[in-house]
Amino acid sequence: MQRLNGKVALITGAARGIGRGIALCLAEEGADIIVNDLPPGEGAGARGTVDEIEALACRALAYDADVSERTQVAALFAAGVAHFGQINIVVANAAMSIRELVIEARWEDVLRTIEVAQFGVFHTCQAAARQMVQQGGGGKIIIIGSILAEIPFPSSAAYNMAKAAVNHLGGTLAAELAPYRINVNVVNPGYIDTPGERAFATEEQLQRAGRNIPWGRLGTPRDIGRAVAYLASDDADYVTGSALRVDGGYKLGMRLPDD
Ligand code: NDP
Repeated sequence: MQRLNGKVALITGAARGIGRGIALCLAEEGADIIVNDLPPGEGAGARGTVDEIEALACRALAYDADVSERTQVAALFAAGVAHFGQINIVVANAAMSIRELVIEARWEDVLRTIEVAQFGVFHTCQAAARQMVQQGGGGKIIIIGSILAEIPFPSSAAYNMAKAAVNHLGGTLAAELAPYRINVNVVNPGYIDTPGERAFATEEQLQRAGRNIPWGRLGTPRDIGRAVAYLASDDADYVTGSALRVDGGYKLGMRLPDD
């Protein structure tokens, strides 16, 4: 059974990694998908994810925009509405992190991380709220946070700050939008195997990290996509202002010995 038939979902940062996993899971549930990302560099960019969705006989639109730029976010939503007529589900997923110790951090790196991971989420959520209130009929907004909103992981101060902030934005927006029957929830992933993470770790380091998680492996983009599909569906109509940790028990910080 497809839970998202007739719905249109917009996902930021969906050319690869978790965003791509979410886009594919929502398409498999029957939604039409607006795939946002930065303009392509070496890879296929948003168009690559659109090709995969179209191969599932679903409809999708690629739109390049930098979520840290308010005018580009406005243009992204306008293009989505012009193409599909409405937007019912928005996933604020795009983020980046420049990893530096606080004592060594360059201010421009801190600023860029906050601009994308915090302000970009605000711009996306504000545009989503305005569109959903205007069109009526409720809606679902899902923010992709991180367990680092709760865990002060070293070398990630700006990112950790941004993730704590967007968790609080989720609750605030949920309270403001409840009268419009717009659900706002946060998904906080644990350690997920994505191209973004592979830039910081070797295969051996990733495997070892996975073994130390209670579930015994790293998460996959589809682990997050399936959680988002639930929150985007009618099954979650009474769920709002929640933060769902999807981390295989990472936050528990313990693991049974092998034998
Ligand atoms: P990736 O870096 O693999 O993918 C992120 C995507 O977002 C890339 O395609 C990237 O484009 C795009 N992007 C970056 N900046 C912008 C921008 N300004 N505007 C639009 N798109 C942008 O990241 P993940 O898939 O690992 O992470 C996705 C989300 O999940 C993020 O919010 C992240 O913080 C969160 N998360 C990830 C975890 C993990 O372990 N992977 C753990 C917890 C949370 P480009 O490639 O061109 O830079």
